[in-house]
Amino acid sequence: MKTVPHWIGGKPFGDAAGASGTWGPVTDPATGEVTTQVAMAGADEVDAAVAAAKEAYATWRTSSLAQRIAILFRYRELLSTRRDDLAALITAEQGKVHADALGEVARGLEIVELACGLGMALKGDTSTEVSSHVDVASVRQPLGVIVGISPFNFPAMISMWMFPMAIACGNTFVHKPSSKAPSASMLLAELAAEAGVPDGVLNIVHGDEVAVNALLDHPDVAAVSFVGSTPVARHVYSRASASGKRVQALGGAKNHMLVLPDADLDAAADAAVTAAYGSAGQRCMAVSVVVAVGSAGDALVSRVAERATKVKIGPGNDPTSEMGPLVTKAHRDEVANYVAGAAAQGADVVLDGRDFTVEGLENGHWMGISLLDKVSTDSDAYRNEIFGPVLCVLRAGTYEEAMRIINGSPFGNASSIFTRDGGAARRFQLEVETGMVGVNVPMPVPVGYHSFGGWKDSAFGDHRMYGSEAVHFYTRGKVITSRWPDRPEVAAGPDLGFPASH
Ligand code: NAD
Repeated sequence: MKTVPHWIGGKPFGDAAGASGTWGPVTDPATGEVTTQVAMAGADEVDAAVAAAKEAYATWRTSSLAQRIAILFRYRELLSTRRDDLAALITAEQGKVHADALGEVARGLEIVELACGLGMALKGDTSTEVSSHVDVASVRQPLGVIVGISPFNFPAMISMWMFPMAIACGNTFVHKPSSKAPSASMLLAELAAEAGVPDGVLNIVHGDEVAVNALLDHPDVAAVSFVGSTPVARHVYSRASASGKRVQALGGAKNHMLVLPDADLDAAADAAVTAAYGSAGQRCMAVSVVVAVGSAGDALVSRVAERATKVKIGPGNDPTSEMGPLVTKAHRDEVANYVAGAAAQGADVVLDGRDFTVEGLENGHWMGISLLDKVSTDSDAYRNEIFGPVLCVLRAGTYEEAMRIINGSPFGNASSIFTRDGGAARRFQLEVETGMVGVNVPMPVPVGYHSFGGWKDSAFGDHRMYGSEAVHFYTRGKVITSRWPDRPEVAAGPDLGFPASH
């Protein structure tokens, strides 16, 4: 059986499981078979990875920006030529269809490209002659060893949100990917080494909460970037900041799409099906709730149902499949329970995906498409993140009622409005309490040079991912005030007063 070891100091680490580690199973979601054993780190492996990163930091931080950028350019090219291989690894362990996995790699590449142009973002500011013969310069410097912890649903892209920007800024990195889908991160590390990233600059430890907590507590770790579910994001944020680390922790989501009666309802239905069921709903930007106002409700539900029944579900490596399986059997069963619970709590089950299976692959983690209408705000299916192919429709009488529902959610990742009314759209942009907003766009995933992050329980900490926010997160400011004794009046003897500008 294939094994996935840690990656420390530029090579696979030791006897893979290491001294204090164990092995964990990785399953192909389409077949339900365990295909791989992944090394699960304990404290020893975490110590080894952080030590390698700390040692590499001493020279990497003083390497020139030109050297770092040249490596990142080579990395970008290697990644681009290996897109298909990366996508195949994602499909084999996460389950999403190949085209979707290619899209994930493309969005990750955007951030590597952003890192290639980091010179503009890293340049500081200088003020000359702020006082007599005094200049002031603001510069930004790296932090040291950064830890990145990522979820199963984007095994390549979210890693690429983190380490390319962090290492371009002069930091070194220890990555802890999801042990459910660890192989893509190994190919990312191998290609980084091939591109010239020095040993120890990028390290990977696999594992679960044991590895995560050892990283959060480690005294040689300066900062933590996390993406995952809300309870774990909250834990990571409080535990790592308790030991003085800088932390950004992006959490779960329940993204709402508000549809007004004047919207193009065919376009809105296309968007709802795309955003609710793409990647089997396992996206933090998935639309999981539609709030339909007035007469939009019936018209929209029938259009969504008509389109959703045509979605072809099958293994991700079949080019005709549009939606793949769920990541694990346990997750599949949890999602199915929400559909059962919603029916018991009064929702109309318009489409029920619980009995779906694929012939010949009956042990796969299959779940068909579910569409729940007239869902109440106090039902479990509405209150919790389901993270599966289940779309909840809520009905509202007015825009104001719809907005109260949306802003009443504890999650604040993304939202969107579908309307032809520019005034309503503008009001929505100003009033909605989410970090990302779409207008007639269901999944407003920002491009690389903007930044990604939610509000409320969808993100902890003050920094968003990528864009200029990543430069701020992965560096710290330093302000240098200098005077050169090139004039006789400067050497005027001691002056114990507080220095004033003149
Ligand atoms: P998860 O929170 O279970 O796991 C995320 C990471 O934390 C993994 O590396 C995992 O090994 C580790 N982990 C899990 N439990 C832990 C614990 N108790 N203590 C310490 N570490 C722990 O998330 P997941 O199931 O892998 O991913 C899905 C979740 O991620 C969803 O909630 C989704 O909304 C969220 N997500 C958010 C974003 C975003 O940008 N906001 C993007 C993608 C996914």
